[in-house]
Amino acid sequence: MPDAAVVWQGSGVNVTETHSSGARGDSGPQTARLVASRVLDVPDFPKPGVMFKDLMPLFADGAAFREVIDGIVAYHGRENFDTVVGIEARGFVVAAAIAYATGVGVVPVRKAGKLPRPAYAATYELEYGEATLEVHQDAFTAGHRVLVVDDVLATGGTAEATLDLVERAGGTVAGFTVLLELAFLKGRERLAPRPVHALLTV
Ligand code: AMP
Repeated sequence: MPDAAVVWQGSGVNVTETHSSGARGDSGPQTARLVASRVLDVPDFPKPGVMFKDLMPLFADGAAFREVIDGIVAYHGRENFDTVVGIEARGFVVAAAIAYATGVGVVPVRKAGKLPRPAYAATYELEYGEATLEVHQDAFTAGHRVLVVDDVLATGGTAEATLDLVERAGGTVAGFTVLLELAFLKGRERLAPRPVHALLTV
């Protein structure tokens, strides 16, 4: 496990920075170090016991964000996907950047009740209760190769529901990328045999 140092304290909350030495990920140590250097760990958010991985510092650093986006495109190969799906809400940031960089379109997978036209829905278990994600029924033409992106892979429930939605809507999953994977929650195993591309695994 990487070291962490408290970088900000206030209102009884410690925000820590994940140290980047020894960082690992599926695009190599340099990319993993870059992501690790721009993640803040926020304890007990949004509820006690959760260590929230805040990637806003990565999004806010233009040069680092561009390097990460270029790395995702290089990993999958521009010619290997026709559209990119972002999972609400931080996945939208990554998806839109990939879409602009490559010239493909972007499709949002949204939380229940946000899409204006007929949609497919997938409900999955959370630690407490359940959540529903939706995608427009006409989001893809048959056989469309879809790259799916999100910020964090935790238990894999969100990703599993999204990949199922893509297939129900007629798309073919061409790849799945997250900026950060929490390995101890075993999302990668849950999604197997579908491959996971994580820029940083902690
Ligand atoms: P899961 O379905 O458990 O894999 O959770 C993944 C989704 O929840 C992603 O859309 C993440 O944005 C969010 N998420 C879950 N755990 C965290 C965490 N520790 N830090 C930041 N985001 C998280």
